[in-house]
Amino acid sequence: MKISLRNRLTISYIFVTIVCVFLISILMNVMLEKQFRMYTRQNQQRSNLELAGLISKQYSGGTWNRSVIDNIGVNYIERGMFIKVSDIHNRVIWDATVHNNGLCKKMLDDMWKNMNKYYPHWNGEYKVESYPVYDGKTKIGTVVVGHYGPFYYNNTDLAFIYTLKNRILIFAFIFSLLFTEIFGTIMARMLSRPIARVVRAAENISRGYFKNRIDERSGTKEIYMLTSAINNMAGTLESHEILRKRMSDDIAHELRTPLATLQSHMEAMIDGIWEPDKNRLKSCYEEIIRLASLVGELEMLGKWENENGRLNKIRYDLCEQIEKIVFNFQAEFKNKGVRIKFCGKRQEIFAEKDKISQVIINLISNALKYTPRDGLVTINVENTESMVKMIIKDTGTGISNEDLPFIFDRFYRADKSRNRLTGGKGIGLAIAKTIVELHQGKIDVKSKLNEGSEFIVSLPKV
Ligand code: ADP
Repeated sequence: MKISLRNRLTISYIFVTIVCVFLISILMNVMLEKQFRMYTRQNQQRSNLELAGLISKQYSGGTWNRSVIDNIGVNYIERGMFIKVSDIHNRVIWDATVHNNGLCKKMLDDMWKNMNKYYPHWNGEYKVESYPVYDGKTKIGTVVVGHYGPFYYNNTDLAFIYTLKNRILIFAFIFSLLFTEIFGTIMARMLSRPIARVVRAAENISRGYFKNRIDERSGTKEIYMLTSAINNMAGTLESHEILRKRMSDDIAHELRTPLATLQSHMEAMIDGIWEPDKNRLKSCYEEIIRLASLVGELEMLGKWENENGRLNKIRYDLCEQIEKIVFNFQAEFKNKGVRIKFCGKRQEIFAEKDKISQVIINLISNALKYTPRDGLVTINVENTESMVKMIIKDTGTGISNEDLPFIFDRFYRADKSRNRLTGGKGIGLAIAKTIVELHQGKIDVKSKLNEGSEFIVSLPKV
């Protein structure tokens, strides 16, 4: 069963609230009881002393004001304190038990029951404490105060504790639950809304609407990262889709020309317009060869990409290899009137020699193809800490900024007219890139239209 983020958050908040209230109630019980016990003990002492003071005031001119003492005594019975006032000769002036023994017993019983009900471990017992009563500095008698000790709670105290402990906790609990529900809902909404939008956008993207982007600007780091990742994914899918469509167009275009030539030649020969002589057949044969080499190169590319880096690497001198290739190209360069210069000292690399040859040939033949008469092609080899760099620079036609990002794609050709005079199939750079990447290397290009291009191949030394 899938639980929504909102419910999950609310449930976890409620759980935390219950745990907190439970812990607070335990703490409160322990602390409150301790403090309150201390307070009642001190209060008892204070009350006893106050009572002794009050009784002393009821003595004047050698006589006791019995009616006031009576009032005080009755009042104190109701507070759970039973007093006995005696004069200096130990004669009883007033005694709570004598005054109303029944009430005293009932009070004691009630207190005992109360305390045992709420505090089963209460170990209180009836205690009596004696306080001297003075008239000025002269002792005039004694007040004996009897009460439960070491502490006891009367009804007011118990009601106070009950309110504090239960009502406040219940109120705090209900309030916390309400707050949790509201806060949880707001939080969940804040979190789930952008996620829901991201999900909707991701669903659209998965349906093929690669142009869709999520413009959710969430302040939550993870959601921001999620939207960025999905937008990047959509961007990659979109560019792959564009590439796929363009590649289909390019392949169709690449195949259409030789097939159309073949078709028209064959039709003309079948209709008897042309004699199937050697020249005509040779022209058809050349188109077939062109098609076969295109298919062969595609096959080769696919094979390399699937090989996953299985290379027959050897350690050899890259400069010696370039020198040989340059030598083989010299006649072609001379025929076109383009100069070629190579500069580099011995530089060892660990690579598959034939495949690197293919890269060098493709780049030099491109430089020659796209550099007009009197131009110059220079090849340099540089050494960095872990890489060997081969830079092939020409003063040719250059590549426009619009074409630059695509020139390594299969069948991409900057010359949209697809002038077959250049003889290219738009696959040479794709092959070069695949080989370089198979060697864990990198191929970059810098170019300015009508000024020239520079291809930089970086290959690891080991
Ligand atoms: P092609 O067989 O068409 O040369 P490539 O894959 O080798 O195919 O190159 C792709 C495209 O890149 C070319 O069609 C051309 O437009 C451009 N290009 C490659 N190298 C150069 C260069 N040295 N100067 C100018 N443009 C180049």
